Amino acid sequence: DTAMYEAKTKGRNGFQEYIPGLSIYSPDRMSLESDLRAALRNNEFVLHYQPQICLATNQVVGVEALIRWRHPKHGLLSPVHFIPTAEENGLIVEIGRWVLREACRQCRQWIDAHHATLRVSINISALEFRQADFVEQVRAILNETGIAPSHIELELTESIVMHNVGAVLAILNELKRMGIFLAIDDFGTGFSSLNYLRRFPIDRLKIDQSFVQGIDHIPANESIVRAITSLAHNLSMEVVAEGAESDAELAILMACQCNEAQGYWFAKPMPADDVMPWVAAWED
Ligand code: C2E
Ligand code: CA
Ligand code: CA
Ligand code: CA
Repeated sequence: DTAMYEAKTKGRNGFQEYIPGLSIYSPDRMSLESDLRAALRNNEFVLHYQPQICLATNQVVGVEALIRWRHPKHGLLSPVHFIPTAEENGLIVEIGRWVLREACRQCRQWIDAHHATLRVSINISALEFRQADFVEQVRAILNETGIAPSHIELELTESIVMHNVGAVLAILNELKRMGIFLAIDDFGTGFSSLNYLRRFPIDRLKIDQSFVQGIDHIPANESIVRAITSLAHNLSMEVVAEGAESDAELAILMACQCNEAQGYWFAKPMPADDVMPWVAAWED
C-alpha cells in the first residue's frame, strides 16, 4: 500500500515545489489518517490560488483554489500526498467543506478590500459531491460568507458526472439554477459520454495538462485540443487549457481557440496575500 502511494506521488508533477526529497513524508495509512484529523482540528490546511487568464483579453478572470497542508514537521505538502488517502477514508468530506468555506471567505475578503470580480474555482471530490446534503452545504456556506453564487465555480471530474447520471443531472441543474458555474476538470482523461455531456449544464471544460504539455511538437495533442475546443464551442461551453508552461504551447492554445489558460507560464499557485498584487502587476 505504501509503495503504491509513493508511486502515485512520484508520478505527479509540481512535487519538487514543496519538498526536495521524496522519502521525507510517506507515513502509513493509519498515521496519515490521524495526522489529517489533527490537521483539521489545528487548522493546518491552507489554500493557494492559481490565476486563469482569458486569452482574448489577457485579463485575469478567475483563480483556482488548491489545497496545501502546512505540516508541523514536514513543511508545506502537496495535495498529492494526502487527498487520495482522504478520499479513501472519507475525511475528504470534512476537508472539502473547509475548502469551500475558506475559498468563499477569501473571495469575500478580495471583494471587500479590492472590489475584485474574480471567480474562484473549487475542486470537488466524488465523495463530497455524493453527500445527500451537498447542495445544502454549498448554499449554507454561500449565505454564511455572503458570496454570490456567480462568484464560484465547482470543478467536477468526468467520473463524478458520468456516474449515476439521472441523479447527477438533477444536482447539476439545481447548482446551475442557483447561478454557480460548473466545470469539468481533467477533461479528456476519463470517459465522457457525449450524449450526456450535451444534456449537462456545464459552463467550461478544463483540458487536462497531459494534452497541453508539448502541444507545440506533439501533433496528436494539438488534434485532441482542437477537437475538444470545437466540441465545447458547439455545445456552448468554454475551454480552459491547464498546465501551459511555454510560449510555444501558449501560441498553439490560442490558435486552437481555447478561451482561457492556466499554468506556470502565467503563474504558479500562490498564497492568498499574493493574488491581488499579482493581478495588479499583470494588468498593469
Ligand atoms: P488539478 O485540479 O488538476 O489541479 C492542477 C494541478 O496542476 C495543480 O497541482 C497545479 O499546481 C498544477 N499545475 C498548474 N499549472 C501547472 C503547470 O504549468 N505545470 C505543471 N506541471 N503543473 C501545473 P496541485 O496543486 O499539486 O494539485 C494536485 C491535485 O490535487 C489537483 O489537480 C486536484 O485533483 C487535487 N486538489 C487540489 N486541491 C484540492 C482541493 O481543495 N480539493 C480536492 N478535492 N482536490 C484538490
Ligand atoms: Ca482542478
Ligand atoms: Ca485539472
Ligand atoms: Ca488533475
